[in-house]
Amino acid sequence: MSPDLDVAVVGAGMAGLTAAHELRRAGLQVRVFEQQKHVGGRMRSVRHDGYTIDEGAEQVSDQGYRATWELLARLGVPKDHVPSIGTPIGMWRDGRARPGVADRAAVFSGAGLLPRARVDLARFLAWAALHRGEFDCDRPERTPLGAATVREFARRYHPDLHDYLFQPVAGSFFGWDTARSAAAPMVALLLAVGPPAGWRTYHDGMDLLARRLAEGTDVVTGAEVHEVVTENGRARLRVGDDVVTARSVVLSVPAPVAARLHANAPADERAFLSACTFTPTLKVSCLLDRPLAPVSRKPLYILLTPDAEDDVLSAIIVDHVKHPGRAPSGKGLLTLMADPRSIPGLLTAPEQQITDRLVRAATRYVPGLETAGRKHFVHAFAHGLPEATPEALRLRAPFMARGVRPVEYAGDWVMLRPASEGAVRSGTLAASRVLSRLRPPPTAGPPLPASLAAEENLS
Ligand SMILES: Cc1cc2nc3c(=O)[nH]c(=O)nc-3n(C[C@H](O)[C@H](O)[C@H](O)COP(=O)(O)OP(=O)(O)OC[C@H]3O[C@@H](n4cnc5c(N)ncnc54)[C@H](O)[C@@H]3O)c2cc1C
Repeated sequence: MSPDLDVAVVGAGMAGLTAAHELRRAGLQVRVFEQQKHVGGRMRSVRHDGYTIDEGAEQVSDQGYRATWELLARLGVPKDHVPSIGTPIGMWRDGRARPGVADRAAVFSGAGLLPRARVDLARFLAWAALHRGEFDCDRPERTPLGAATVREFARRYHPDLHDYLFQPVAGSFFGWDTARSAAAPMVALLLAVGPPAGWRTYHDGMDLLARRLAEGTDVVTGAEVHEVVTENGRARLRVGDDVVTARSVVLSVPAPVAARLHANAPADERAFLSACTFTPTLKVSCLLDRPLAPVSRKPLYILLTPDAEDDVLSAIIVDHVKHPGRAPSGKGLLTLMADPRSIPGLLTAPEQQITDRLVRAATRYVPGLETAGRKHFVHAFAHGLPEATPEALRLRAPFMARGVRPVEYAGDWVMLRPASEGAVRSGTLAASRVLSRLRPPPTAGPPLPASLAAEENLS
C-alpha cells in the first residue's frame, strides 16, 4: 500500500515550517502535525488588548541570520517589516546600569567591566578577530576552542569577563550555566551576529515568519504525535488516535522529545539525541499602564542582571523600546527573564507566585513596577534552549555524517545554536537530506549495493 504522505513533519516551529516549505517547493506532498493550537513554537507571539507579546524569541540580527533573510526575501517580506531596534544593552553593576554591552566601544566605556578587565576585553576581541575564520556556526565542533566550557574559556581573562560579560550573556540569551555549556558555539554565534546596533525585530511580533511560512502549508494544529516507528524504509506515526504513514518524517521537536517519539532510532542517532539536553526558560510579560523602563542614564533595550548581582532575574527587556507597536500608545511592555538558577524552583509554581517573585525582584531596577502592571503573562518552556554541552559538541560530527534515513531531524539543537537561525538552517538541511533520499538527482547513477551504501553513510 502506498504511504499517506511523502513527508510528515512533526512540529510547527521555525525548523518544521522551514523544512515543510522547502519540501513543498520541491513538489512533495507534505503535512505538518503540531500539538499546540497555533504555529511558531518557541517563536510565537500572543496579542492582548493592543499589546503584542513575544513568548520566546525576541530579536534577530542583520548579520549571522543568512538563511532567515533568504527565506524572508523569498516570501516577499520587505526589510522594513524587520526594523532595527537601535537601542543599547546595559549591564547592572554596583547599583546602576552601564550601557554599551557587546559594543566595541566597551573597551573604553567598560559597560560594567573594571579598567583592568577592559584590557582583557581588547585582548579577547583581538583574539576573536584573528581566529574569526575558524568559527563557523554551522560547525561549532570545529573551532580552536575544542570542547572547553564557557567558564574554562573565560579563565584566560580577568574574572570580570566571565562575571560581567560571558555569564550574563549566556545566562539571559541562551539560558546557559557557563560551567555546563561549551564556549565554541557561543563565541561563534556572538561573532556571527555582531553588536546590538545590528539587531532587529519583526514589526508585528516575532511569529511573523512562522505565520508566513504556515500560509499555504498543510498544517494540522492540535495534533500531538505520540510515536514514530520506521519499518521497511518508511515511517508510521501515531497522531492522536490515528495512524499516518509517510515515506519520510522530519522530527522538528526538541531533542529530548525526538528521542522519546522515535523509540527505535539507530544507536548513532540516539547518542547525539541524548547528549542534546535543554535548559528550561521562564519569563513574565508585564503589560503596564505607562512606559516604565530600568533606570539608566541612556535608554536601554535590555538590562542584563548578572549572577554576581541577582539570583532571581537574568534580564529585563523593554519591549516598547524594541518596537513601539508592542504596546498601545502611552503604555509599556516589559519582559522579566528568570535567572536559570531560579527556574527549577519556580517552573511548577502557580503563575501568580512566579509573577510576584519576578516583579518584586525587578522593582529594584524599575521603581513603580509593582503598581503599574495591568496584566501579566507567564511563559514557560520546559525545553527552552539547547545547552550545547561539550558532550553534544563531541558527538555532533558523527551524527551529521550519518546516512539519510526515513526519519530526519530538525531544530536549533541540530546546529547546537540556541537561536531561530539555527532552527531555520536545520530545517533547510533536513529538507535537502529528505530530497536526496526521495528525489535522488538524475545524475546520481544506479543505486549502490547495500554494503557500499552503508560504507558511504559512515564516511
Ligand atoms: C525565552 C527564549 C528566548 C529566545 N530568544 C531568541 C532570540 O532573541 N533570537 C533568536 O533568534 N532565537 C531566540 N530563541 C530561540 C528560538 O526561539 C528557537 O531557537 C527556535 O524558535 C526553535 O525552533 P524549533 O523549530 O527548533 O523548535 P520549537 O519552536 O520548539 O518547535 C517545536 C514544535 O514542536 C511542537 N511539538 C512538540 N512535541 C510535539 C508532538 N509530540 N507532536 C506534535 N508537535 C509537537 C511544539 O509544540 C513546537 O511548536 C529564544 C528561545 C526562548 C525559549
